[in-house]
Amino acid sequence: MKLIVKNGRVIDPASGRDEVADVLIKNGLVVRIGTDLRATGAIAFDAAGLVVAPGFIDMHAHLREPGYEHSETIETGARAAAAGGFTSICCMPNTAPVNDDATVTRYILDRARAAIVNIFPIGAITKGSAGEQLAAIGSMKAAGAVAISDDGKPVMNSRVMRRAMEFAHVFDIPVIDHCEDLNLSADGDMHEGFTSVKLGLRGIPAASEDVMVARNILLAELTGARFHAAHISSRRSLEMVARAKSRNIPVTCEATPHHMALADSDIVPYDSNYKMKPPLRSVTDRSALIDGIAAGVVDAIATDHAPHPGSEKMQEFERCPFGVLGFETALGIALEALVHSGRITLPRMIELFTTGPARILKLNRGRLEPGSPGDVTIFDPELVWTYDVNRSFSKSRNSPFHGRTFRGGPVATVVNGAVVWTRERSI
Ligand SMILES: [Zn+2]
Ligand SMILES: [Zn+2]
Repeated sequence: MKLIVKNGRVIDPASGRDEVADVLIKNGLVVRIGTDLRATGAIAFDAAGLVVAPGFIDMHAHLREPGYEHSETIETGARAAAAGGFTSICCMPNTAPVNDDATVTRYILDRARAAIVNIFPIGAITKGSAGEQLAAIGSMKAAGAVAISDDGKPVMNSRVMRRAMEFAHVFDIPVIDHCEDLNLSADGDMHEGFTSVKLGLRGIPAASEDVMVARNILLAELTGARFHAAHISSRRSLEMVARAKSRNIPVTCEATPHHMALADSDIVPYDSNYKMKPPLRSVTDRSALIDGIAAGVVDAIATDHAPHPGSEKMQEFERCPFGVLGFETALGIALEALVHSGRITLPRMIELFTTGPARILKLNRGRLEPGSPGDVTIFDPELVWTYDVNRSFSKSRNSPFHGRTFRGGPVATVVNGAVVWTRERSI
C-alpha cells in the first residue's frame, strides 16, 4: 500500500525540515520526502496550502475501557483522537479493573488492535491506584506500558512514591503524577479565589498542586527517577519545574489546551462542563502557563481527554465528576493561544505535540523522515471552523468549547500509512 501526500508544507521539528515537499509512505513507513515524487499505484492526497507534520501524540487521555464503556470505548476514543489530528494516544489506567498488571495491559493492547490510531497504555503506580502497594511495574512495562501513573488520584504517601520512583528508575519508565494534595483540596470543586467565593463553591487552592510538585521534584532528585508532572496549571509549580530543570533534575511537564484557553473567571456559573482537575486557575496562572510554554519549561501538550456521559455531567456542579473532552479541540486551541497570538512558532507548537511527548515516553514516533512510521497530521492553520460537540466522535458530550469558532484545525490524519480521517468526509 502506497500513499503520497503532495505539495504540503512539511514541518519536522526533529530534523529542522520546513519546506514544501511530497511525502511518500509505503507499507506503513515513510520512504521518501522530496519534490516531484512519483509513485505508480499510490493513493495521492493533495496537501497544497496545508501543513504536513509528524503524527501528533497525546500522552494523557482517558479511554474508559474496560469498565466504563458508557462514557467511551477504545474504538470511539480513537475516532475522536483521529478527528483531532492525533495518531497516537496514551490511555490512563483508571479503568475498571485498573490497569495495574500485565493482564489488563495486554487486554487493552488487544482491544487497541481494532482502533484507528496507535494506543499506548499507561500502567498504574499502585495496586488499584489505591496508593498503598506498588503495582506490577516491571511486568506491565514488558507487556507494553510506556509510563506509570495513578492519574485521577495522587500518590499521597511519600514513602510509597519514593519506592515507586526507585522501581521506575530501575525499569527506566517515567512516573507521571497527578499532583494534588487531597487534604488541601478538601473536596473542593473549583480553583480557590475570587470566583469561587462569588459563586459560593468550595475552592481548591493552587498550593494543593504546588506541594506535590515540590515533593515529587525532591523525590526525583533523591531516586534519579524521571518524574513527569501531569496537567501543570499553577504559576508556582511552573517556577519549580523550571528551577529543577536548570539543576538537571529529570523533571518534565505537560500543559492541557483547556488550561491555556480558560481561567476560573471564564466559568459559566454552575456549568459542569467547566469542572475539571486541576481546576481552571486564575488569569495569572493561565498567563504563567503560556509563558512557561514560550520559555520551554513545558515539554508537551496533552489533552487529558476525560469523557463523562450526560447523565453524570447533568448534575449539580458539586456532585458531577471532574473532566472535559479534549481531542477534537486541542489543535484549534493551541494554534489560537500559542501561535496566532505570536507566543511560539508553528514548528515549536508541532514539537509540543510530537517530539516532546515521544522523548518523555521514549516512543519511536513523532518524526517525519525516511524510515519513520507513516503517521502524519495534516492541518490548516487558517481554517475557520466551529466545534459542534453533538457531532463529536466521542461517546460523551462534556466540553466547554461547544459552539466555539476556531482559526486552524486538522484536515486529515494518517496512521501507519492509511488515511483514517479527513475533514471533508466527516462534516
Ligand atoms: Zn489528573
Ligand atoms: Zn487525567
